[in-house]
Formats: sequence, C-alpha cells, structure tokens
Amino acid sequence: MNPNEHELQYPWNEPPATGDWLTLRPGVHWVRMPLPFALDHINLWVLDDEIDGRAGYTLIDCGITSDATKRAWTHLFDGAFNGKPLLRIICTHFHPDHFGLAHWLTAGGETARWRVPLWMTATEYAFGRYLSAGGGDNISGESAARHFSRNGLSDGAALQQVRERGSGYYPGLVPAVPSSFHRIYEGDEVAIGPPHASRLFRIIVGFGHAPEHASLYCEEDRLLITGDMVLPRISTNVSVFDLEPDADPLPRYLRSLDRLLVLPADTLVLPSHGKPFIGLHQRIAQQHRHHAERYDEVLAACATPQSAANIVPILFKRQLDHHQITFALGEALAHLHALWYQGKLARRDEAGVYRFGAK
Ligand SMILES: [Zn+2]
Repeated sequence: MNPNEHELQYPWNEPPATGDWLTLRPGVHWVRMPLPFALDHINLWVLDDEIDGRAGYTLIDCGITSDATKRAWTHLFDGAFNGKPLLRIICTHFHPDHFGLAHWLTAGGETARWRVPLWMTATEYAFGRYLSAGGGDNISGESAARHFSRNGLSDGAALQQVRERGSGYYPGLVPAVPSSFHRIYEGDEVAIGPPHASRLFRIIVGFGHAPEHASLYCEEDRLLITGDMVLPRISTNVSVFDLEPDADPLPRYLRSLDRLLVLPADTLVLPSHGKPFIGLHQRIAQQHRHHAERYDEVLAACATPQSAANIVPILFKRQLDHHQITFALGEALAHLHALWYQGKLARRDEAGVYRFGAK
C-alpha cells in the first residue's frame, strides 16, 4: 500500500455500486466490477459517444468473464444505459480483468443485442488471443514452473499449483477473444462523444506492465485513463515472466511514467484500481522513490548472492498466497534484472538456480 497516499486528492469518496455508474464529468461514467482475487475490484469507464449517427457508449475495459460481471453489465444495459447501445470497446491491455469479457460484450451479451468493434494495440490483442487459445504453457504451467524454480522457488506446493494451473489459467478468465480488432497506435487521436460534446483522446503507449499498454489522455478535459500504468494505492505490477525470462521491464516502466510528466499537474487520473485522483506528478515521484528504495534493499541483500525467491520476503513483508508468490517472484526478478543490466550485479548459475551477487 502507498504510505504517502495523503499526497493525492480523491474527489470522490465512494465508488459506484455494482451494476450502476457514477458520472464524474458530463459523459464520463465510472463503473466498478468485482474480481475474485486479493485485488477485489476493477474500474471501467463508460463514455457517451456517437458513431455513424447512432448515440450510445464507448467502453474502456471490460472485467473478467464471470457470471457476476455479466450480471452487473446486464443490469447497466437495462438501467443506466437508458435504452442506448454500446458502440465500441477500447481495451487498455490484455490482462483478464481488462479484456476477459470483450468477446461477450462485443457480441452484445447473451441476447446478442449488438455487435461492436474492439479497439486495442496490436501486441495486446495478439497476446490475449494467443493465451486465450491455450498459449502453450506460458504464465502458468510447466514452462512457468521451470522459470520459477530456475529463479529459486523451491516451495513444492507453490510449484505444483503453478503446474496444475497449466495453460488453463488465462482461458478460464478469457475463454474467447473477438476474432477481429481495430488497431490503435501510440499517438493516435480518438474522438469519443457526440459531435457537440466530443472529446479527443490521445493514445499513450506504456511499457513494463504489459507489452503495449494503451492509456488515453484528453487534453481539453485534463483527463487521463491510465489503465494499470498509474494506480494510487498499490504499485503497478512489473514482472519478469517465463515468456521473456531475460526481460528488463522496470526501467522501461519508469521511463513510460516519466513521459506522463508533461501532462498538467491537475490532471484527473482515472485508474483501473482504487479511486480517481489528482496528483499524477506526486504519484510518479512516489513510484520512483518506491523502486529506488527497493533497488537499495535488493543491492544490500545481494552482498551475499541471492536468488529471486530469496528476495521476495525482503520486498514483500506480508504473508503471500501461492498466486501472489508467483507475481512477487516476477517482481523480485524485475528489480534484480534492472540492477544486473545496469552492471551493479552479476548473475551466476549455481546448480540450476540463478543467483545475483556482486560483480
Ligand atoms: Zn494489468
């Protein structure tokens, strides 16, 4: 949790109830959906729109595939949508809580009440489609278990759980993906809204959390939909996974954040988790401080060579369940790799386990 959360301002104290929305600005509606994880909710954004002469809504991100999410959406369609259709879906990235229900929503749900396009960056769409289709055994399964064990995870029960989850983990949350998409690129400007009240959103691609994550910025309204790139309470997960075992995502993530510093200080940030807030620059500074402190802790610990698994309890003082351990290990590795690529640590293979120590 963010110890300096008091530096941020939250204009709204209470999130909308499930199945309803809260209007933040004219034509900008906040929706919250439940998640069956430790992180128990996701924020989604519904924007007034008009496409091809039809008034309706554009949706930013979807929620996971679950009966609870479908019920909540149906409630919104029958209630707050006030008879207007969904017109378009824009997904910030491929993670299940953002992309899981895109197949259902683009097809209009169980009643097939509309067919709408999915807008997404190409890498995010490709990742989601690959993993939904079974995607080998990456992220979970045998390849993931090998990756974790190579990086020092020796807890048999945790490894077994990763193996057993197998390739079914992502498809369980994202069982299908729309068969086509509309590609968005860094710098694209997307007009959202009816002609008399249209907002221009610029796509800002960021790295480190997902392969080609799209945030949306409206300059006129100083509105930034950050997806998972900037979150007020928790640090964005930046991990090294088995699909790219030698990746160096953390410096890329921090550089992506720095690109947002040109935006005004009073920008209203709409994050995927937590509450809308003002304090973008403070939050970016906090993230830099947070990771600089973690780098120091990791470097100090590596005075004697350590595996990523050894680093986990240093970075995460709280008790973690098996699901969280895999993310935590990925994060520990992200810090180790950054220091390794900066030349501050050396990596050595000791009996099949990577250990990082002084050069
Ligand atoms: Zn994410």
